[in-house]
Amino acid sequence: MSTAAPTSSPDTSPLMSTQGCIAVLNAGSSSIKFALYEAGTDGPLLFRGQVEQIGLLPHLKVANAAGEIVAERNWTTGSLDHRGATAEILKLGRELLGARPVLAFGHRVVHGGTEFAAPVKVDAQVMAALSRLVPLAPLHQPHNLAPIAAIAEAAPHLPQIACFDAAFHRTQPVLAQEFALPRDLTAAGVRRYGFHGLSYDFIVTRLRETAPMLARARLIIAHLGNGASLCAVRDGRSLASTMGFTAVDGLMMGTRSGALDPGVLLYLMQERGLDAAAIEDLLYRKSGLLGVSGISSDMRTLRKSTAPEAAEAVALFVYRIVREIGSLAAAMGGVDGIVFTAGIGENDAATRADIAAGCGWLGVLLDEDRNRDGNGRISADNSRVSAWVVPTDEEQMIARYTRAALAS
Ligand code: AMP
Repeated sequence: MSTAAPTSSPDTSPLMSTQGCIAVLNAGSSSIKFALYEAGTDGPLLFRGQVEQIGLLPHLKVANAAGEIVAERNWTTGSLDHRGATAEILKLGRELLGARPVLAFGHRVVHGGTEFAAPVKVDAQVMAALSRLVPLAPLHQPHNLAPIAAIAEAAPHLPQIACFDAAFHRTQPVLAQEFALPRDLTAAGVRRYGFHGLSYDFIVTRLRETAPMLARARLIIAHLGNGASLCAVRDGRSLASTMGFTAVDGLMMGTRSGALDPGVLLYLMQERGLDAAAIEDLLYRKSGLLGVSGISSDMRTLRKSTAPEAAEAVALFVYRIVREIGSLAAAMGGVDGIVFTAGIGENDAATRADIAAGCGWLGVLLDEDRNRDGNGRISADNSRVSAWVVPTDEEQMIARYTRAALAS
């Protein structure tokens, strides 16, 4: 078992042999999810996996299309970084695919700024533009770009398509995108972008296929994972979201604070002497569930803990969500349905029940058994606002965009 992060560029060459696949990399702050699909229109999934807890105790798991685990590895130290994890994924990809080549890589990239609204093929110029956006998403953009750079180095002719998390929110009305700041700052791009767009896009696409009436309704989609946000969607279009200029805004998250009184930042600088780097570290990596509990950023760990601090962190997580649901309902003029997705949203029935209880005033009433099953509709038949669990699949969305970009 390897414990050291490889220092050389990931070797993609053996992937370039005879038949075709699309590879998707979805690099988050502490994980890289990946998936391999057959090329061709809606080519089926071949393998899906992830390296979790990068920097802590990394763990890699890969399943085939039937969900059977085909590879699993653990690292006993935190020395595996994102670049090392990418190399491990590519190495495993070669073993799993054998002679089949990867025709293109699709990547989730958090920020496309105002320049990129649609998926784009990455060349040196695009890469330079995306690198300039790193300060807007310091916890994500560097991790998103590192695998692209490594693959470009090892296989420069392999197309790589960047798919943007903020793009879905470009439909928001002007007022939903503006801060109450002087106009020159707004014009310079200091505005609300919103994130988790690939996830919302997938949910909306799935609902259009499976529940077209619901897809046209006024929905609040709750993407509750290590990163967390809410999006108000009407007729499949984003109207408002809790994340703004950066992915630290809005809800409390695993390690991110979410929205703060801006005065807190002034206090930290003026009274505590924190500089920008220290504040970034505090807000992105030491706050949220981790900061409030002092125990863990992971909901499963907090749910198992008997410490009152763990319970308080979970309660604050829920409270912030309930308040923001009220805000988005107001922005949309009402709400017809709430959709839960991502790690916590899909799996944690207790969190869903607590949120629904806080939204009783809106007309949300869960069915206990359905909520425990956590599959499809979870609201009671007489609930005025319906509630649903819809698993997200950002990788599939990225694969679709990558195929479309290749075709065009
Ligand atoms: P994501 O970023 O979407 O992978 O979600 C990660 C979050 O989902 C972590 O806080 C996990 O603890 C949480 N999670 C995953 N599975 C469960 C589960 N069965 N119960 C509660 N939380 C879960």
